[in-house]
Amino acid sequence: MRIDLTQRSAVVTGGANGIGLATARRLATSGARVAIWDRAVATGAAAVDTLTAEGLEVMFIETDVTDGVSVAAAVAETVGRFGGLDILINNAGIVRDAQLVKVRDGVVVGGMSEADFDAVVSVNLKGVYTCTQAVVPHMLARGWGRVVNASSVVASNGNFGQTNYVAAKAGVVGMTRVWARELGRRGITVNAVAPGFIATDMTAAIPPGILRNMQEHTPLARLGAPDDVANAYCFLVSEQAGFINGAVLSVDGGLVIGT
Ligand code: NAD
Repeated sequence: MRIDLTQRSAVVTGGANGIGLATARRLATSGARVAIWDRAVATGAAAVDTLTAEGLEVMFIETDVTDGVSVAAAVAETVGRFGGLDILINNAGIVRDAQLVKVRDGVVVGGMSEADFDAVVSVNLKGVYTCTQAVVPHMLARGWGRVVNASSVVASNGNFGQTNYVAAKAGVVGMTRVWARELGRRGITVNAVAPGFIATDMTAAIPPGILRNMQEHTPLARLGAPDDVANAYCFLVSEQAGFINGAVLSVDGGLVIGT
């Protein structure tokens, strides 16, 4: 199946690194003009230099998805340059892991801080709402749009030490299904991907033993690569995925946590 995005303009949040960078490249090689919105200025600029040298039409805009003013400015700049917006990949995300309550020798010695809970929900959940609400009016103007949100395998299975992250990623699935209902009749599909464990900076901090364990519980017996998820995003934004709406696509090698 050949995916042709030559008439499309796309935004990839968190596109300076990891899955987002692979997605920016994948969409651009399929013909889309791509804006990377990320708060990481140096890596974002370097990513654009690399992709531009590959002959791709990509630009970087310093953006904080938790800040409505920053997002509004990014929308204005992107639409000013591309003349409109068709595709939004809500990929920006962070982790701040800690157990809800940490106990040592029967004594409570800590737990997830309110700041860490708020930070993760703010980027991974509220940021998706902020960006989507700001971008959708431009899709409505064209009567066509694709929104794809980053959830995670942990949204349905839970994960030790990830109260904040799991809450956010499960919330993303809920918002995806609401927007699929609200926007479908306007020609806009809204879907989510649920990656398993993908080799990026985000998983580089996971202790090797836990990663090995995840790999052992993955029938394909490896971690995912950023391109594995980028390919799923690219399909979901294509013309060929036009009847897929409100879906959560697992990209996890068959991993079932807890087995
Ligand atoms: P990454 O850490 O490599 O990249 C995340 C990007 O998001 C970075 O470029 C970072 O600067 C950007 N970002 C963070 N906060 C931001 C903000 N407030 N505004 C704008 N940009 C911001 O992560 P990744 O592994 O590539 O993950 C990408 C997405 O996929 C995330 O939503 C993550 O939760 C999700 N995911 C990843 C995995 C995995 O195993 N890596 C698994 C499931 C889901």
